Parts: sequence; C-alpha cells; structure tokens
Amino acid sequence: MEPRLIDPFNRTIEYVRLSVTDRCDLRCMYCLPADYRDFSEPEEWLTFDEIERTIRAFTELGVRRVRLTGGEPLTRHHLPDLAARLNALPRLEDLSLSTNAVQLKKHARALFQSGVQRINVSLDSLKPERFTAITRGGKLNKVLDGLAAAREAGLRPIKINMVVMKDVNDGEIEDMVQFCIEQDFTLRLIETMPMGDTGRSASNHYMSLEDVRRRLAERFELVPTVMPGGGPARYVSVAGTNLRIGFITPISQHFCAGCNRVRLSADGALYLCLGQEDKVELRPLLRQGIGDEELKTAIRTAIARKPEKHDFREQPQKIVRFMSLTGG
Ligand code: SAM
Repeated sequence: MEPRLIDPFNRTIEYVRLSVTDRCDLRCMYCLPADYRDFSEPEEWLTFDEIERTIRAFTELGVRRVRLTGGEPLTRHHLPDLAARLNALPRLEDLSLSTNAVQLKKHARALFQSGVQRINVSLDSLKPERFTAITRGGKLNKVLDGLAAAREAGLRPIKINMVVMKDVNDGEIEDMVQFCIEQDFTLRLIETMPMGDTGRSASNHYMSLEDVRRRLAERFELVPTVMPGGGPARYVSVAGTNLRIGFITPISQHFCAGCNRVRLSADGALYLCLGQEDKVELRPLLRQGIGDEELKTAIRTAIARKPEKHDFREQPQKIVRFMSLTGG
C-alpha cells in the first residue's frame, strides 16, 4: 500500500507549499511593511540539495504536489534548476509556482522547460497607479509582460490571485473578471487575512466574498463548478465564457476541515498551519546529518502536531509573522 501522511483530524497531507526565499521585490500593503529589511540571510536558507532531499522524503511519505512560493520565488537565483530537480522526483505529480510576475518575462520559458506546469500570479489592480500604490512601487506593465510570456511559454492554467479590499480595489472586481475572460485566465478572489501588522491593518479593508459573489451575480450568470487542483477555493463558472472564479474565504467561511497541506519556509521550518505558529525546525536536523528514515520520522511526528484550524476570526492578533514567510 502507498504510504500516506494522515494528521490527527484524519486529513491526508499531500501538498507542500515550499518557500524558497522570504525576500520580495514588492511590498504589498497587506503583506510586508514598506521599509522592511529584516529578512533571513541566504546561508540560513535550505540549499537546493537540502530542499530536494526534504521534498523527496515528503514524496516518499505520500506528498504528490509542490508549489514554489516565497517571498518572491523568482528572486531566488537559479530557481529553474531547483524546479528541474524537484520535477525529476519520481512520485511528484504536480509542480506549480506562485509569483508576482515582476520578473516572469525572463524566466517563464526556463520554468516551463524545468517542469513547472502552472502558475498563480498575484494581481490586485489593473490601474497602473493603484497597482503601484498597493505594491508600494511595483510596475503593472512588468506583470502584464510576465503574464504574456507565461502564456507564450505554455504555462496552463494561469490563475490570477486578487486580494479584495474595500475602498482599495473592490471597485475593480468586474474589470478583473472581464480581463480574465479576455485573457483566458482563471480568477481567484481572496479575503484579507490578519497576518502580521500589515495583514491586520489591511483587514480594516476586509470584505466578505459572500457579498462580492452576490454582487457579481447581478451582472454575470454564475454556475457552481469544480476546478481540479483548485485547493480551498469554491468555484463558479461564468455562463457563456470559459472563466472560472474561485472564492478563497478563510474568514467568512473557513475550509480547514479539508486542509491537505503544510508549508516549508526558506530556512527550513515546517509550518503546520497558515494561521497558527506551530512549526518544526528541519534545518538543524538536516545539517546535523540525520538519515533519510529519521527525516521521515521527523516529518511524521510534525504532521501528528498539525492544528485543527486557524483562529483568524477568534484571535486576529495571534499571528505575528508576515505572509511572505510561508508564501500564502
Ligand atoms: N510573491 C508571490 C506572489 O506574489 O504570489 C508568492 C508569495 S505571496 C505572500 C502569496 C499570496 O499571499 C499572494 O497572492 C498575496 O496576495 C497573498 N497575501 C499576502 N498577504 C496576505 C494577507 N494578509 N491576506 C491575504 N492574502 C495575502
């Protein structure tokens, strides 16, 4: 029988979100402080050898999907080399990437050739000035160029992640729907999460996506649907188009009962829940030279500590780390 990682709440863990750096070339208002500099140092990051070894152990325990994330993963040098090494792991079935796409134009082809099959791109506004304000300095045209390059390279599907914020970008949701229809992208709308001071202050702009869905239903015919590999999003399709819209609602309707994932930070901490601080440090074990079986035991022991759910609603002050540490 194939091995499986099962947590105390009978959930099968088959997905690792792998942060390859905590650094980012943007400072999105809900994610990182404008002047933030307190990043980990490259010598603290897991090396490609250490990452490959850890992910191999996960795949031997039943993990089938890995997403490269960050920080901004494209700021880590030689990312396509890492992608190729992970893609070569015999039991890995799905390798994907989350990116802000600022540097995607120059990397899209190499990533695709290295085995990255699909990407999620963060994009909260189609208005250049607003995009710059939300990201504190980002240039929208770079992201649009990156998206075009991704399509050209063959990455499919391309999903747009839009964090919806009242009085910031909520007036643009219909435009984003139209953009995704025209571009043949999938759209995922995300509620702001109270992670770190930045996430908490952005939560002042929180909007329930239930309300957004009702609003969209006045203009578009929305049909409930499923999206393979769609994760926690609940999807609708827009009648008469190819567009699917996913609603990611950690606050208004959490989806912890179906959680199938853990997160490995760039410095090798295995976070067991996005909304809790529980973690197991794998890097010291790797650098002490533990064997493969001990590594697998450490992973199994960690999964046995996976919390049941986050407390974003009940305890919004709880999570001090920024989203950029674990990559969403
Ligand atoms: N740099 C990559 C990117 O832009 O997609 C990957 C890392 S980024 C931290 C992953 C996702 O987390 C992005 O879609 C971002 O919008 C989202 N995010 C960051 N902070 C958030 C918050 N406080 N609430 C909701 N989503 C957040």
